[in-house]
Amino acid sequence: MNYKIIRTKRKTLALHISSRDAMLTIRAPIGMSEDTIHRFIAQKSNWIRRKQTEISRQLEKHKPRQFIEGEQFLLAGRLYPLHIIPGAKPRVYLSNGEKIVMTEACLAAPRHYMEWFYKHQAKSMLVKRTAQIADKLGYTVKAVRINSARTRWGSCSMNSTINYSWRLVLLPWDAIDYVIIHELIHIDIKDHSRRFYARMLKLLPNYAEREKKLKEHSLAASIL
Ligand SMILES: [Zn+2]
Repeated sequence: MNYKIIRTKRKTLALHISSRDAMLTIRAPIGMSEDTIHRFIAQKSNWIRRKQTEISRQLEKHKPRQFIEGEQFLLAGRLYPLHIIPGAKPRVYLSNGEKIVMTEACLAAPRHYMEWFYKHQAKSMLVKRTAQIADKLGYTVKAVRINSARTRWGSCSMNSTINYSWRLVLLPWDAIDYVIIHELIHIDIKDHSRRFYARMLKLLPNYAEREKKLKEHSLAASIL
């Protein structure tokens, strides 16, 4: 196991695994022996490995994408391999729910066509899901629109139209549903007051967990 030891004035050992590169850093008291440190790491090795694997998996999801055969693209929190096929007409589609197929013609402007694909997916996935959840919770939505916002997952206008960024469809369903419910509540309650969160708690008791998940996955929005 690779790690870096930093000697500090602290009294106890502390482990830190970077969320940037999964590297382990140990902060140790100045006088503590290497043996004691190694024993401590050995004791915690299962936890360290698990954490590092988890972070590596997240990093994998967030690295900038290349438009080459086998590259993985996110949709609803899942990675789908890209399959490039011959074709003079630009087309991108999900094949058998297994892979994202792109014709060679798209390679002239792959980002553009991938964005088109995501917007298309966002339209069908988010309209359908919003209707289902609104129906279940008793909300009436006037319309659902898709935009290209980078930092805002969704918004709700005064006339009950809900707007989502197409980037939302990259995230897991748990996080998507949280945003949908958040915007539905805004139909009645326009601010983030206590009333808003009381309603949220009633409709989605584990909303704090979902909010956390949304934050964790936010980087995914920057992959294109
Ligand atoms: Zn809000």
